[in-house]
Amino acid sequence: MAKCEAVFTKELEAQLGYLSNMPKPNAAFAVTPVRRSNSSALSGLHRESATRPVIAALTALSLLLPTFAYAQNSLPELGDSSGVLVTGQAEKKLGMEAMRELRASGAYLQDPEVNAYLNELGARILTANPSIRDQFEFFAVADSGVNAFAMPGGYIGVNMGLVLITQSESELASVLAHEMAHVTQKHYARMMDDQRKNAWMGIAGLAAAVLAAKSGKGDAAQGVLLGSQAAQIQSYLNFSRENEREADRVGFQYLTRAQFDSGAMGTFMERLQRVGSISDTGVVPGYMRTHPVTVERIGDARARAGSGEFKLARESTDFHYVRALLRSYVGEPKAAVTFFESALEERKYSSEAATRYGLVASLMRLRDFDRAKRELAVLESARIKHPMIAAMHGQILIQNEEFPEAVKFFEQAIVEYPNHWQLHHDLPEVLLRAKQPKRALASVERSLARRPDDITLLELAARSSAESGLKMKQHRFLGEQYARQGNLRGALDQFELASKAGDGDYYEASYVESRAREVKRELQLLAKDKRALFE
Ligand SMILES: [Zn+2]
Repeated sequence: MAKCEAVFTKELEAQLGYLSNMPKPNAAFAVTPVRRSNSSALSGLHRESATRPVIAALTALSLLLPTFAYAQNSLPELGDSSGVLVTGQAEKKLGMEAMRELRASGAYLQDPEVNAYLNELGARILTANPSIRDQFEFFAVADSGVNAFAMPGGYIGVNMGLVLITQSESELASVLAHEMAHVTQKHYARMMDDQRKNAWMGIAGLAAAVLAAKSGKGDAAQGVLLGSQAAQIQSYLNFSRENEREADRVGFQYLTRAQFDSGAMGTFMERLQRVGSISDTGVVPGYMRTHPVTVERIGDARARAGSGEFKLARESTDFHYVRALLRSYVGEPKAAVTFFESALEERKYSSEAATRYGLVASLMRLRDFDRAKRELAVLESARIKHPMIAAMHGQILIQNEEFPEAVKFFEQAIVEYPNHWQLHHDLPEVLLRAKQPKRALASVERSLARRPDDITLLELAARSSAESGLKMKQHRFLGEQYARQGNLRGALDQFELASKAGDGDYYEASYVESRAREVKRELQLLAKDKRALFE
């Protein structure tokens, strides 16, 4: 591993300026954005066991098997041209369960700014391609491996390492577009369908995909945990060559329609190939394993790019800020600071402002708040504006425990950047720390009205309610949070607790009762599916 990292450092630092000092796969889970140390501890209220062994992942997924198999055995064929038998709903459930495992494992990167950015990028592709009917959720994986993957239900994960080796927003978009094509072309459903007789293995393959996502290039971990099954499962992880070809072709259309650089797909594949060949020490980046870059793939991508007319790509500066933020999470905080210092000194950057922002983020991890403040002031005095700079400024005020200033700051920042959701998370957080739970609740309820599915907001709402002594609200928000995380049993418990709390008005009480009934019905349906399998 160390050897491989040394190669990475030499080759890529010269070329990309990124990826050096990447943590080892397992250490990657230590990646906790210091800036977010408070919000990531939010779930402390009713936290599910933080880390669960892999076996749990397999068991949980196997619980889903009945639903899935039921969908296959009992539902009529939909008459889809592809002959797909797995319903979209079954896929969604599988995906939700896998997401739950990912969150519980700590592999899901708890960073609203990064995840919001990935979703905005995905939304740009969707807007430009109205024919796409599927829904997507994009998220970052707290791992330095070079990997990206699509799960059933439209959940698309991108490892930090992959974002860091992309050089432009178009390259990153090309990866998203390719993964989106796997979903729109129903490759998962087809894959499962082919393996109908061996459905269990298909599901186990999904669990292994989750594990692979977790450990990045962690062949060793998988090998140990899954033993002799590993090799067998590996084959289920891979889409067929035709699937990959189709994802390249369809993904390319998505990409260019959204006005990204049409050459980006080919450029990124070439870079992957270089990374792959230099890491030929047995540790192949995950993405290379599932997406072998062949001369043919690069040739096809190049040919497609060549045939279109040249248009200037529409790239946002957000990409550079997000990439800098992710780079600040890599390796020891001190090394991250040094990385950005020398990048600034040697003028090795594509965006000076984003590089300085990365320095500030690294200083935050080092807990050198004074210097972070000074470096941020350099940006602000140059009148460089970006919502991520604003959010960072607020974080410095929080860390310095300047709560009244922080409250005022966030209130203004939300007016200036109403769609930067990090700020909507930070304001109630700082109000809670300033011991103003009622104001926190008012703020979070305003935000929730615009974004009722935001899990972090629901968490904050539950906490604000608890600290305000409002039992019914506390349990209701917690129930909503669990329901959106696919934890129906937990949700039911909370809605029942809410209806017994007795401190809400008539409308609130009847609302939680109806939510409890809905969730109960859903649970009964699940149980029925399970019985149907064994009859
Ligand atoms: Zn693929």
